Amino acid sequence: MTRRTALLLSLCLSSPLASAAEPVLVIHGGAGVERGDLSPTEEAAARTALRQALVKGHQALAAGRPALEAVTAAITVLEDDPTFNAGKGAVFTHDGRNELDASLMDGATLKAGAVAGVHRVRNPILLANAVMQHSPHVMMVGEGAETFAATQHIALVDPSYFRTEKRWQQLQKALREDAAGQAHADLETARHFGTVGAVALDAQGSLAAGTSTGGMTNKRYGRVGDSPIIGAGTYANATCAVSGTGWGEFYIRTAAAHDICARMQYLKQGPDEAGRAVINERIPALGGDGGAIVLSADGRAATPFNTQGMYRGWIGADGVPHVAIFADEPLPLPGQ
Ligand code: ASP
Repeated sequence: MTRRTALLLSLCLSSPLASAAEPVLVIHGGAGVERGDLSPTEEAAARTALRQALVKGHQALAAGRPALEAVTAAITVLEDDPTFNAGKGAVFTHDGRNELDASLMDGATLKAGAVAGVHRVRNPILLANAVMQHSPHVMMVGEGAETFAATQHIALVDPSYFRTEKRWQQLQKALREDAAGQAHADLETARHFGTVGAVALDAQGSLAAGTSTGGMTNKRYGRVGDSPIIGAGTYANATCAVSGTGWGEFYIRTAAAHDICARMQYLKQGPDEAGRAVINERIPALGGDGGAIVLSADGRAATPFNTQGMYRGWIGADGVPHVAIFADEPLPLPGQ
């Protein structure tokens, strides 16, 4: 081989395009779902919504758009669907409000955007994107975030838009248990998580991650969970992308999303090993539960969880969506 050919070859091998894997999108609609929670109609609706979100995100990837766009597109579909605890259908706070959190991270640039405690933003993930793209900040909360939303022409809705009867009844149950003095009884209800998230790898080999949630039923005092916290519920860099769902306090305490990425980056663990170490070992050891979706820069995916189910799915270059809900459902993943 001549020196020139060797140089050309090494340039090709180190360019992002040459090292890019096929585009892939992985999503979740929350851990904690149990068979008894869903009627056949609700289960079918959840599977349809997951497929729709995958197809929407895949359209962006297939058009050569960045991973960030695929993540945002998929999450927007799940926020609009009342099945999940994000956007319409979000859980209620102790005071009977819907307070929404979301975050987004671009692995290529390490730019990130997040919002917490908003109650009039129809799609919080779009506002997180605007924070990232059009402000010098990473996180905005409450009324300030909504004022910024108005300047960005982000759709604002009446707070009643988010209400569903099912979530309202979940709050009533938690309040009755509170009134009966059952210590931590609300946690039983709160276990039905339902946060949504997405991670994607685009044709340029870049990764992105995003997460959106209503938080936990019966939350009080402006409680904010892991979902809008970069490093806890969401993280992406050049090595990996992660979105979590579960009992947020434990994800914050373990910096769960970042820990998974750090294991992949520094310990050279694969998505499966890194995901299991955090989701199936560290978090349960502290008393927490939940799951995550994990994607590597070479297109390997993992969907670890320690609950009876997690709404989840993925779509690759062929555009065929694959979805699963319960723990005993096989879901062969790319790279596994
Ligand atoms: N992680 C979310 C929170 O604690 C809840 C969820 O995943 O559904 O706010």
